[in-house]
Amino acid sequence: YFVAPDQFGEHSVMLTGDDAHHAARVMRMEPGDEMIVSDGVARAALVSVSSIAQGEVQAQIKEWLPMSGEPAWSVTVAQSLPKGDKMELVIQKGTEIGAASFMPFQSERMIVQYDGKKEAKRLERWGKIAKEAAEQAHRSRIPGVEPVRTWREMIASIASYDAALFCYEKEGGAAGTGLRSAVGEIRNRLGEEEGQMKILLVVGPEGGFTEREAAEAEAAGAVIVGLGKRILRTETAAMVGLACLMYESGE
Ligand code: SAM
Repeated sequence: YFVAPDQFGEHSVMLTGDDAHHAARVMRMEPGDEMIVSDGVARAALVSVSSIAQGEVQAQIKEWLPMSGEPAWSVTVAQSLPKGDKMELVIQKGTEIGAASFMPFQSERMIVQYDGKKEAKRLERWGKIAKEAAEQAHRSRIPGVEPVRTWREMIASIASYDAALFCYEKEGGAAGTGLRSAVGEIRNRLGEEEGQMKILLVVGPEGGFTEREAAEAEAAGAVIVGLGKRILRTETAAMVGLACLMYESGE
Protein backbone atom coordinates (compact mmCIF):
# COMPACT_ATOMS: atom_id res chain seq x y z
CA TYR A 1 0.00 0.00 0.00
CA PHE A 2 1.57 3.26 -1.13
CA VAL A 3 0.53 6.88 -0.93
CA ALA A 4 2.29 8.62 -3.79
CA PRO A 5 1.11 12.18 -4.47
CA ASP A 6 1.49 13.53 -8.01
CA GLN A 7 2.57 10.25 -9.58
CA PHE A 8 -0.65 9.40 -11.40
CA GLY A 9 -1.09 9.38 -15.16
CA GLU A 10 -4.39 8.51 -16.83
CA HIS A 11 -3.65 4.78 -17.03
CA SER A 12 -0.47 4.34 -15.05
CA VAL A 13 1.31 5.24 -11.84
CA MET A 14 5.01 5.69 -11.25
CA LEU A 15 6.74 5.21 -7.91
CA THR A 16 10.02 7.06 -7.48
CA GLY A 17 12.57 7.73 -4.72
CA ASP A 18 11.96 5.99 -1.38
CA ASP A 19 8.68 4.47 -2.60
CA ALA A 20 10.37 2.82 -5.59
CA HIS A 21 13.18 1.59 -3.35
CA HIS A 22 10.67 0.14 -0.90
CA ALA A 23 8.65 -1.62 -3.62
CA ALA A 24 11.63 -2.95 -5.58
CA ARG A 25 14.23 -3.70 -2.91
CA VAL A 26 12.36 -4.18 0.37
CA MET A 27 9.16 -5.81 -0.90
CA ARG A 28 10.96 -7.34 -3.89
CA MET A 29 8.03 -6.70 -6.20
CA GLU A 30 8.20 -7.97 -9.75
CA PRO A 31 6.27 -7.27 -12.96
CA GLY A 32 2.75 -8.63 -12.56
CA ASP A 33 2.60 -8.03 -8.79
CA GLU A 34 -0.31 -5.93 -7.56
CA MET A 35 -0.41 -3.08 -5.07
CA ILE A 36 -2.73 -0.28 -4.03
CA VAL A 37 -1.57 3.28 -4.62
CA SER A 38 -3.33 6.41 -3.45
CA ASP A 39 -2.53 9.94 -4.61
CA GLY A 40 -2.83 11.12 -0.99
CA VAL A 41 -5.66 13.52 -1.79
CA ALA A 42 -8.59 12.10 -3.69
CA ARG A 43 -7.95 8.88 -5.57
CA ALA A 44 -6.68 5.34 -5.04
CA ALA A 45 -6.19 2.50 -7.50
CA LEU A 46 -5.34 -1.19 -7.69
CA VAL A 47 -2.30 -1.33 -9.96
CA SER A 48 -0.14 -4.02 -11.53
CA VAL A 49 3.63 -3.54 -11.76
CA SER A 50 4.75 -3.37 -15.40
CA SER A 51 8.43 -2.45 -15.13
CA ILE A 52 11.14 -1.82 -12.57
CA ALA A 53 14.15 0.14 -13.76
CA GLN A 54 16.62 2.79 -12.63
CA GLY A 55 14.95 3.66 -9.37
CA GLU A 56 11.46 3.82 -10.85
CA VAL A 57 8.56 1.40 -10.60
CA GLN A 58 5.96 1.75 -13.33
CA ALA A 59 2.51 0.20 -12.81
CA GLN A 60 -0.71 0.03 -14.84
CA ILE A 61 -4.01 1.00 -13.27
CA LYS A 62 -6.37 -2.00 -13.16
CA GLU A 63 -9.22 -0.58 -11.13
CA TRP A 64 -10.13 2.67 -9.37
CA LEU A 65 -10.95 2.15 -5.71
CA PRO A 66 -12.95 4.17 -3.21
CA MET A 67 -10.93 6.19 -0.71
CA SER A 68 -10.11 4.09 2.34
CA GLY A 69 -9.45 4.64 6.02
CA GLU A 70 -10.78 8.20 6.16
CA PRO A 71 -12.95 9.20 9.15
CA ALA A 72 -16.24 11.07 8.83
CA TRP A 73 -15.02 14.02 10.89
CA SER A 74 -12.08 16.18 9.96
CA VAL A 75 -10.02 16.76 13.11
CA THR A 76 -6.99 19.06 13.10
CA VAL A 77 -4.66 18.53 16.05
CA ALA A 78 -3.34 21.90 17.20
CA GLN A 79 -0.39 20.89 19.35
CA SER A 80 1.71 23.38 21.26
CA LEU A 81 5.27 22.52 20.28
CA PRO A 82 6.59 19.84 22.65
CA LYS A 83 10.25 19.14 23.34
CA GLY A 84 12.50 16.56 21.71
CA ASP A 85 10.91 14.35 19.10
CA LYS A 86 7.46 14.28 20.71
CA MET A 87 5.88 16.18 17.82
CA GLU A 88 6.96 13.29 15.58
CA LEU A 89 5.14 10.88 17.88
CA VAL A 90 2.00 13.05 17.80
CA ILE A 91 2.10 13.10 13.98
CA GLN A 92 2.80 9.38 13.61
CA LYS A 93 0.21 8.13 16.10
CA GLY A 94 -2.27 10.89 15.28
CA THR A 95 -2.18 9.89 11.61
CA GLU A 96 -2.85 6.26 12.50
CA ILE A 97 -5.78 7.26 14.72
CA GLY A 98 -7.32 9.51 12.06
CA ALA A 99 -6.21 13.15 12.29
CA ALA A 100 -6.94 15.23 9.17
CA SER A 101 -4.00 17.58 9.78
CA PHE A 102 -1.61 18.96 12.37
CA MET A 103 -1.09 22.55 13.44
CA PRO A 104 1.96 23.00 15.70
CA PHE A 105 1.84 26.32 17.54
CA GLN A 106 3.69 28.35 20.15
CA SER A 107 2.36 29.12 23.61
CA GLU A 108 3.56 30.75 26.80
CA ARG A 109 4.69 27.75 28.84
CA MET A 110 6.40 25.82 26.06
CA ILE A 111 9.55 24.15 27.36
CA VAL A 112 11.25 23.96 23.99
CA GLN A 113 12.92 27.05 22.48
CA TYR A 114 11.32 27.52 19.06
CA ASP A 115 13.96 27.92 16.34
CA GLY A 116 12.38 29.20 13.11
CA LYS A 117 15.57 28.57 11.13
CA LYS A 118 15.06 24.81 11.28
CA GLU A 119 11.47 25.11 10.04
CA ALA A 120 11.93 23.85 6.45
CA LYS A 121 13.91 20.79 7.46
CA ARG A 122 11.52 19.98 10.26
CA LEU A 123 8.45 20.31 8.03
CA GLU A 124 10.01 17.98 5.50
CA ARG A 125 10.66 15.38 8.21
CA TRP A 126 7.17 15.76 9.69
CA GLY A 127 5.64 15.37 6.21
CA LYS A 128 7.60 12.16 5.68
CA ILE A 129 6.41 10.77 9.01
CA ALA A 130 2.78 11.58 8.10
CA LYS A 131 3.17 9.85 4.73
CA GLU A 132 4.67 6.69 6.23
CA ALA A 133 2.03 6.55 8.95
CA ALA A 134 -0.77 7.02 6.37
CA GLU A 135 0.63 4.08 4.39
CA GLN A 136 0.92 1.93 7.50
CA ALA A 137 -2.68 2.78 8.43
CA HIS A 138 -3.96 2.22 4.85
CA ARG A 139 -5.31 5.75 4.68
CA SER A 140 -6.00 7.36 1.34
CA ARG A 141 -5.02 10.83 2.53
CA ILE A 142 -1.78 12.10 3.97
CA PRO A 143 -2.57 14.53 6.79
CA GLY A 144 -0.97 17.93 6.18
CA VAL A 145 1.48 19.36 8.70
CA GLU A 146 1.30 23.15 8.82
CA PRO A 147 4.23 25.46 9.58
CA VAL A 148 4.52 26.37 13.29
CA ARG A 149 2.02 29.12 14.11
CA THR A 150 2.20 31.83 16.73
CA TRP A 151 -0.37 31.77 19.54
CA ARG A 152 -2.22 34.65 17.83
CA GLU A 153 -2.37 32.79 14.52
CA MET A 154 -3.71 29.66 16.21
CA ILE A 155 -6.39 31.69 18.01
CA ALA A 156 -7.34 33.47 14.77
CA SER A 157 -7.84 30.10 13.04
CA ILE A 158 -10.53 28.98 15.54
CA ALA A 159 -13.24 30.83 13.63
CA SER A 160 -12.70 28.71 10.52
CA TYR A 161 -13.72 25.46 12.28
CA ASP A 162 -17.20 24.18 13.19
CA ALA A 163 -15.83 23.77 16.70
CA ALA A 164 -12.59 24.14 18.62
CA LEU A 165 -12.04 21.97 21.70
CA PHE A 166 -9.47 23.43 24.07
CA CYS A 167 -8.01 20.68 26.32
CA TYR A 168 -7.51 22.10 29.79
CA GLU A 169 -6.76 19.79 32.70
CA LYS A 170 -8.31 22.21 35.21
CA GLU A 171 -11.68 21.32 33.68
CA GLY A 172 -11.54 17.86 35.44
CA GLY A 173 -14.37 15.33 35.14
CA ALA A 174 -14.43 11.62 34.34
CA ALA A 175 -12.49 10.44 31.30
CA GLY A 176 -13.86 11.98 28.17
CA THR A 177 -17.06 13.37 29.70
CA GLY A 178 -16.13 17.00 29.14
CA LEU A 179 -15.36 16.18 25.57
CA ARG A 180 -18.49 14.07 25.14
CA SER A 181 -20.87 16.80 26.30
CA ALA A 182 -19.03 19.33 24.13
CA VAL A 183 -19.49 17.04 21.13
CA GLY A 184 -23.19 16.65 22.01
CA GLU A 185 -23.64 20.42 21.95
CA ILE A 186 -21.81 20.78 18.65
CA ARG A 187 -23.97 17.99 17.15
CA ASN A 188 -27.15 19.78 18.19
CA ARG A 189 -25.89 23.02 16.73
CA LEU A 190 -24.83 21.53 13.37
CA GLY A 191 -27.80 19.16 12.93
CA GLU A 192 -27.81 17.73 9.41
CA GLU A 193 -24.33 19.02 8.64
CA GLU A 194 -22.75 16.91 11.37
CA GLY A 195 -21.36 14.47 8.80
CA GLN A 196 -18.68 16.93 7.67
CA MET A 197 -17.80 18.21 11.14
CA LYS A 198 -14.53 20.17 11.09
CA ILE A 199 -12.93 20.25 14.54
CA LEU A 200 -9.80 21.86 15.96
CA LEU A 201 -8.43 19.93 18.97
CA VAL A 202 -6.11 22.23 20.93
CA VAL A 203 -3.51 20.67 23.26
CA GLY A 204 -1.06 22.50 25.51
CA PRO A 205 2.70 22.05 26.04
CA GLU A 206 4.47 20.23 28.91
CA GLY A 207 3.99 23.30 31.09
CA GLY A 208 0.24 23.48 30.31
CA PHE A 209 -1.81 26.53 29.32
CA THR A 210 -2.05 29.66 31.44
CA GLU A 211 -5.43 30.86 32.71
CA ARG A 212 -5.11 33.85 30.42
CA GLU A 213 -4.62 31.58 27.39
CA ALA A 214 -7.67 29.50 28.34
CA ALA A 215 -9.74 32.69 28.66
CA GLU A 216 -8.50 33.99 25.30
CA ALA A 217 -9.33 30.71 23.59
CA GLU A 218 -12.81 30.72 25.09
CA ALA A 219 -13.34 34.32 24.00
CA ALA A 220 -12.33 33.28 20.46
CA GLY A 221 -15.07 30.62 20.46
CA ALA A 222 -13.31 27.49 21.74
CA VAL A 223 -15.05 25.13 24.16
CA ILE A 224 -12.92 24.23 27.19
CA VAL A 225 -12.86 20.44 27.70
CA GLY A 226 -11.39 18.03 30.22
CA LEU A 227 -10.02 14.62 29.30
CA GLY A 228 -10.50 13.02 32.71
CA LYS A 229 -9.21 13.29 36.26
CA ARG A 230 -5.66 12.33 35.46
CA ILE A 231 -3.06 14.72 34.10
CA LEU A 232 -1.84 13.36 30.79
CA ARG A 233 1.45 14.08 29.14
CA THR A 234 1.07 16.49 26.25
CA GLU A 235 1.52 13.79 23.58
CA THR A 236 -0.87 11.45 25.42
CA ALA A 237 -3.52 14.18 25.67
CA ALA A 238 -3.51 14.68 21.88
CA MET A 239 -3.95 10.93 21.29
CA VAL A 240 -6.69 10.54 23.91
CA GLY A 241 -8.63 13.56 22.62
CA LEU A 242 -8.35 12.36 19.04
CA ALA A 243 -9.34 8.77 19.89
CA CYS A 244 -12.40 10.02 21.83
CA LEU A 245 -13.45 12.11 18.80
CA MET A 246 -13.02 9.18 16.40
CA TYR A 247 -15.12 7.05 18.76
CA GLU A 248 -17.82 9.73 18.95
CA SER A 249 -17.86 10.06 15.15
CA GLY A 250 -18.59 6.33 14.91
CA GLU A 251 -15.44 5.64 12.90
N1 SAM B 1 3.83 17.77 32.66
C1 SAM B 1 3.25 16.79 31.80
C2 SAM B 1 4.08 16.70 30.50
O1 SAM B 1 5.29 16.88 30.58
O2 SAM B 1 3.62 16.42 29.41
C3 SAM B 1 1.78 17.05 31.59
C4 SAM B 1 1.46 18.31 30.86
S1 SAM B 1 -0.27 18.67 30.53
C5 SAM B 1 -0.38 20.10 31.51
C6 SAM B 1 -0.16 19.16 28.84
C7 SAM B 1 -1.45 19.43 28.11
O3 SAM B 1 -2.18 18.25 27.96
C8 SAM B 1 -2.38 20.41 28.77
O4 SAM B 1 -2.06 21.75 28.44
C9 SAM B 1 -3.74 20.01 28.20
O5 SAM B 1 -3.94 20.60 26.93
C10 SAM B 1 -3.56 18.49 28.02
N2 SAM B 1 -4.10 17.71 29.15
C11 SAM B 1 -3.43 16.86 29.94
N3 SAM B 1 -4.25 16.26 30.82
C12 SAM B 1 -5.50 16.74 30.57
C13 SAM B 1 -6.79 16.51 31.14
N4 SAM B 1 -6.98 15.68 32.13
N5 SAM B 1 -7.84 17.19 30.61
C14 SAM B 1 -7.66 18.06 29.58
N6 SAM B 1 -6.48 18.33 29.03
C15 SAM B 1 -5.39 17.68 29.50
